[in-house]
Amino acid sequence: MLQEISLHQESSWQETLSDLVTDPAELLALLELSPGDMGLAKQGQLDFPLRVPRPFLARMEVGNPQDPLLLQVWPQGDEDLEVPGFVADPLEEMDSQPVAGILHKYAGRLLLMPTSSCAIHCRYCFRRHFPYQASIPDRQAWQNSFDYLRQRDSIQEVILSGGDPLAVSDRHLDWLLGQLEGIAHVGTLRLHTRLPIMIPARVSAALCRRLAASRLRCVLVLHSNHARELDDAVAAACARLRDSGVILLNQSVLLRDINDNAEALSELSERLFDMGVLPYYLHLLDRTGGTAHFEVDEQRGLDLIEALRQQLPGYLVPKLVRETPGAAAKQPV
Ligand SMILES: *Cc1c(COP(=O)(O)O)cnc(C)c1O
Ligand code: SF4
Repeated sequence: MLQEISLHQESSWQETLSDLVTDPAELLALLELSPGDMGLAKQGQLDFPLRVPRPFLARMEVGNPQDPLLLQVWPQGDEDLEVPGFVADPLEEMDSQPVAGILHKYAGRLLLMPTSSCAIHCRYCFRRHFPYQASIPDRQAWQNSFDYLRQRDSIQEVILSGGDPLAVSDRHLDWLLGQLEGIAHVGTLRLHTRLPIMIPARVSAALCRRLAASRLRCVLVLHSNHARELDDAVAAACARLRDSGVILLNQSVLLRDINDNAEALSELSERLFDMGVLPYYLHLLDRTGGTAHFEVDEQRGLDLIEALRQQLPGYLVPKLVRETPGAAAKQPV
């Protein structure tokens, strides 16, 4: 019986994950917007097509072309602009991959990318130009990754990122966790994921049981940029994770016209706290080609953090950071 329920859950989130909105015309129709309300990128949309999960879309306000959730997914005409300084691989990650599917930039932590796919295509994402297909591990590459890890006992935390690591099946995750649990010096598993927000049903009973049963300490870093992303279903998914002993954090990106005001950021922190999630990082935008229209300048970022400090307890103020190629950690601003 239990098995049946979890199989049903697995099929239901996977169905939602395969039934994404990818047609700009459909998105506009669902939100009762007309093409005249929204310019559409040509090149940007070809390279990194529209992709929106329906549960996320359901939280957008109908008829509002400036909706902060919509602006995260809509390929605006501005994406086609070439802006000096905005390049394909701003973090120079192509150079940090000792083995396909691994990023090893920071001491003690290793980042693995179990899949190239995400439930959503966030238009500001620095991975939009990443040649994912070439970096996704097959069985042999996995063995190389585990060998790399086994040989370095300084690495005590493994971060699953991507793509979105929760886009893979529970079966594949179970196998991967088993491999990591077999490496004695790995003590912490971290998941960087947007899926509990995009498709809360992804936080299945089977997934929670597996994480609860692991000998690894589990940390899950959500990625939410706006309080309106966080409805009751997301809160329930977070509660299931917390009940499984998972520590929950959130990272956001500071995005022009989406969350670049103190009110939006403080509402986000408070809503996260309601759900048992602490804010971790607020990232300045990576200067990826096609994303210049999202940039908020550093001084404005600092002013916003100062405004949050005036209103919120310290533990609800995220750290403002930027990623710098070659640096040994994310750089505080
Ligand atoms: C962000 C990141 C990490 C994690 O950094 P923390 O500061 O520990 O959150 C690890 N590896 C890579 C490659 C990263 O980009
Ligand atoms: S979910 Fe994360 S990795 Fe995927 S497109 Fe969005 S920001 Fe990028």
